[in-house]
Amino acid sequence: MYEHDVIVVGAGGAGLRAAIAAHEEGADVALVSKLHPVRSHTGAAEGGINAALRDGDDWTDHAYDTMKGSDYLGDAPAIETLCETSPEEVIQLEHWGMPFSREEDGRVSQRPFGGLSFPRTTYAGAETGHHLLHTMYEQVVKRGIKVYDEFYVMDLAVTDEEDPEDRECHGCVAYDIKSGDIVGFKANDGVVLATGGDGQAFDHTTNAVANTGDGPAMAYRAGVPVEDMEFVQFHPTTLPSTGVLISEGVRGEGGILYNAEGERFMFEYGYANNAGELASRDVVSRAELTEVNEGRGVEDEYVYLDMRHLGDERILDRLENILHLAEDFEGVDGLVEPMPVKPGQHYHMGGIETNEHGETCVSGLYAAGECACVSVHGSNRLGGNALPELIVFGARAGYHAAGRDYGEALVQTGPSAAIEHEEDLGAPVEPGALGPADDDVAADGGERAADEARSDGGQLASASEVVHRSVERQRQRVERLKERDGRNHAEIRKKLQKAMTRWVNVFREEEGLKKALEVIKECREEYQNVAVSDPSGTYNTDLIHTIETRNLIDTAETIALGALARDEFRGAHWRAEHQERRDDEWLKHTMVQWSDGTPELYYTDVILEGAEKTYEPKVRSY
Ligand SMILES: Cc1cc2nc3c(=O)[nH]c(=O)nc-3n(C[C@H](O)[C@H](O)[C@H](O)COP(=O)(O)OP(=O)(O)OC[C@H]3O[C@@H](n4cnc5c(N)ncnc54)[C@H](O)[C@@H]3O)c2cc1C
Repeated sequence: MYEHDVIVVGAGGAGLRAAIAAHEEGADVALVSKLHPVRSHTGAAEGGINAALRDGDDWTDHAYDTMKGSDYLGDAPAIETLCETSPEEVIQLEHWGMPFSREEDGRVSQRPFGGLSFPRTTYAGAETGHHLLHTMYEQVVKRGIKVYDEFYVMDLAVTDEEDPEDRECHGCVAYDIKSGDIVGFKANDGVVLATGGDGQAFDHTTNAVANTGDGPAMAYRAGVPVEDMEFVQFHPTTLPSTGVLISEGVRGEGGILYNAEGERFMFEYGYANNAGELASRDVVSRAELTEVNEGRGVEDEYVYLDMRHLGDERILDRLENILHLAEDFEGVDGLVEPMPVKPGQHYHMGGIETNEHGETCVSGLYAAGECACVSVHGSNRLGGNALPELIVFGARAGYHAAGRDYGEALVQTGPSAAIEHEEDLGAPVEPGALGPADDDVAADGGERAADEARSDGGQLASASEVVHRSVERQRQRVERLKERDGRNHAEIRKKLQKAMTRWVNVFREEEGLKKALEVIKECREEYQNVAVSDPSGTYNTDLIHTIETRNLIDTAETIALGALARDEFRGAHWRAEHQERRDDEWLKHTMVQWSDGTPELYYTDVILEGAEKTYEPKVRSY
């Protein structure tokens, strides 16, 4: 068993920042990651990082834009923390050597981005995430932080008290991809989950194949609620054939969207008369699909994004990477022709419920980055607001896990913060109807036996025993998966992805959401017979993908459940039957809690009172 003070699971932007912070606080830190750190998906981020750095800008304006962008579903203490701290974190990156793009006078460049009232998106060409990862990885290496890369974390080692708020996390269990061993990691002070997004729940996504929602699924099964899962961002400019992203930086630099008739539809049809192409992402995605649905799309599928008028010099200076992507994946030369684009799954606003210190309701378990929901993005994230979230809340989670005292949190977590339960609403969801979510292991997460955390005689088990037992359960799980004959995970994953893309996409309606839940239920049943056919110990991707598929099923179910329950139109969540934001009923966060194998829904208050002001919900127009 490996032992460290703080164990950070995931080595993307959030994980690297958390590890550096915990190390600065004096902890012995380990990063455990299924990928090498610089292969993490943060490396794909193109457009930039929002921070109020310039004269004429102010973090309070950034906070206002973020709250408005969230459609008043973000929590003010978290949003204010993000926007006030982002400038110092960006300056810290600059001091660590991040090669930001610069103006002629030497100042760091900033560009306009959707939904922002000031051009405050700081960038490094169109490769911001790549440079961010490399800059922070250098700091990890310099500090001698131990990195366990190619270790796939399968489960958390959490005690099993009845009430999740009494539970403790003592570490995690990982499959060492290189050796084939299943090993325990004991954390003396805390585990930080920083496992990134879950875009693989959909079949048209900008996310990498590694983005499988492992962190949220593990935390959920350990009793931590997942928050606002129905809010999924569909980015308006992805390449139709692959889902590869064309950065919002293109529109930030002046790129224009046209329909098949050559009309600049954002203005022509009044989707966003002021901001046009730079309206918030949810607005632009709906506009594009409306164009296609009304017969003005190209090949009934997509629209055009044109940047030719920016001129070769500017494109090559600021957007060169985009040229390569359009050429390589679509065979289009962006200097001489417009690029085909359509909406694709891009980001998950929802995730593991945390407070502004990164803490979950399970003691010793933290989360940061895209896998977490703190909540700063509410029902819609503004472009350029994910990267500052990684560095601001990654750092806070790392510092706190290593012992820094931030005082009492303003954002409450855990079931005790519930204001009402789903039954009270009489909504058309019966959480229990979906049945248990077990695959092959009575041991997997939700079904932890009561003796898991207790040794004989009813004594509390030591932290090491908790980790050891979790390791044993995962060893048995893998043995069973390999021994038996059964279904291959790939067919089940594909079925799930198709259903999510068809029915839980930009436009959602009750019947479709119910169909999606039916398919998810079928996927669960089929998964109970899943088997791993590759017997090898090392580099067994069949095994990893099988376990990831289970995580995707759990995550997808919480998304569809939340989407069905929320009968209003807010931010990225559009409902055919409910065309209005309903603040009287729905100014609240959706929580899904794992309860003996079935999901339960409850709600918590949104916090609109900030330190600076109270954010009064207004009509969100651009
Ligand atoms: C194409 C693209 C472009 C984007 N551009 C921007 C942008 O310009 N600006 C912006 O603000 N946001 C942008 N975003 C969003 C932003 O980049 C992501 O939200 C963010 O990078 C996620 O960082 P993360 O650290 O949370 O996760 P990731 O960078 O995805 O890292 C996750 C880490 O967890 C590890 N991991 C996962 N599961 C396990 C497991 N079971 N065991 C062990 N390790 C595990 C992985 O190996 C990886 O190291 C973009 C997103 C995409 C997809």
